[in-house]
Amino acid sequence: MSAAAGTTKKTIVTALPGDGIGPEVMAATMKILAAANAPIEWEMAEAGAEVFKKGIGTGVTREALDSIARNGLALKSPLETPVGFGGKSANVTLRKYFELYANIRPVRELPGVMAPFTGRGIDMVIVRENVEDVYAGIEHMQTPSVAQCLKLMTAPGCERIVRAAFGLAMAEDRNKVTCATKANIMKLTEGMMKRMFEKVGPDFPSIAQEHIIIDNCAHQLVIAPEQFDVIVTSNMNGDIISDLAAGLVGGLGIAPSSNLGDHVAMFEAVHGSAPQIAGKGLANPTALLSAAIMLLRYIGAFTAAEEIEQGLFITLAEGKNLTGDLSPRGHGVGTDAFTDQVIANLGRSSNLASRDYKKFELLAWPELTAHVEPDRRALVGIDVFLESELGADELGKALAAIAEDTPFRLNGVSNRGVQVYPSTGGQTFLVDHFACRFMFKTPIDLNASLATGQPEISYLVQRIGAKFTWMHIEKLQSFDGKDAFERPQGEG
Ligand code: NAP
Repeated sequence: MSAAAGTTKKTIVTALPGDGIGPEVMAATMKILAAANAPIEWEMAEAGAEVFKKGIGTGVTREALDSIARNGLALKSPLETPVGFGGKSANVTLRKYFELYANIRPVRELPGVMAPFTGRGIDMVIVRENVEDVYAGIEHMQTPSVAQCLKLMTAPGCERIVRAAFGLAMAEDRNKVTCATKANIMKLTEGMMKRMFEKVGPDFPSIAQEHIIIDNCAHQLVIAPEQFDVIVTSNMNGDIISDLAAGLVGGLGIAPSSNLGDHVAMFEAVHGSAPQIAGKGLANPTALLSAAIMLLRYIGAFTAAEEIEQGLFITLAEGKNLTGDLSPRGHGVGTDAFTDQVIANLGRSSNLASRDYKKFELLAWPELTAHVEPDRRALVGIDVFLESELGADELGKALAAIAEDTPFRLNGVSNRGVQVYPSTGGQTFLVDHFACRFMFKTPIDLNASLATGQPEISYLVQRIGAKFTWMHIEKLQSFDGKDAFERPQGEG
């Protein structure tokens, strides 16, 4: 999947024209790439609303999946997520199906695009983990009134996104990587990314590195956005701050992104299908064109990438024939006139240089189930999540009585993460969803003993189940002597 600039060998790329304004911005992008003799051959494929309407719940046809798998490269226009029919988002389907874990979103001030922060020199890239975190979409109603979403973050997931951020910084001659997390609150999940950043960072001694709490990151992005170079963060954090950052330089309408995995790279505009202006010939193709420029660099077609980027920059800088979203009211032109203006400007250079870019490779990961075995593993207790309408004191006493004559003792009961039994005197509002922590009176060293703790757990859960409705159990373990669980707020 490579084509050196200057050769005639073409790289086959799957093109998904998508929904709404998608086909219009795709046609414009293809026209500009053809005019610049970009070494690409398109293979058209279908995804989005029409596919959902055919009853394909993923929103992506089998042919499209096969085409992307075969070519390893895709340029994708926005895909509508239908409300009221169809399954999950077709965008999410594609990201997950091909494990496109690295979402790369450059945010750079463009010439001629006036935004609140114009002139500040914003030029950063947000590297967002794209497949884990709460976006795994593992959700359960725990009781009729309590919903739960699992936030899953993994060591390999954190390592590969952190390495991708450093790899990108090296490829683009960038100076600093900032890791933005909520590790102060979610010490195990978000903390895992922070710890991985600190572990991997020394492999990249030429790059400055810092950690920042995500809420302060949002604040700093608005106070002094020019301080950032590369920001690496988890899925939901990245979703929010990358839109925020795009807004600093002119909005989603001009923002491109890539979604990279070990086998497939998919490039897309960040904006959606803009149904209000679809079919009217008014859409601005800048974002998809910029995504195509990222694609050209990715396949090593640097000459075409630079020529098109400079043609786009000078078109924006000169302000002639811009689409409505970038023009004073009443002065905008249509997609076709803008496209022709970019083509007319091919071969010219703007005052804003294209970035130096070296090929950026993701670390290859072995194709096996990632597993880490600690040297020592102990079972120290269980959390039983149950539904009850009792008050905390009454419930706590009942559970303490159930644990008597078992190998467990009740450590405490918490409600939405706050200890409510034994009472701490706090003013916690109670819902019918309690986490009840039972500790083994004698923890089980799973390396030294043949005991598994399973019969004891079954016995306790049966006793609890005789009186209460429980939803799930979490084992409380320790790995290499370290607790593998957090304590509720207020636990002494
Ligand atoms: P949107 O499609 O991004 O549109 C919001 C507004 O932004 C549009 O109404 C339009 O503003 C402006 N806009 C966006 N792109 C533009 C362009 N290229 N040229 C000119 N103006 C542009 O967001 P949405 O309305 O929230 O979402 C619509 C659909 O897109 C939904 O089904 C959503 O699920 C989907 N979506 C898909 C993706 C994706 O495929 N990656 C991403 C986001 C949303 P004016 O109305 O002021 O002209």
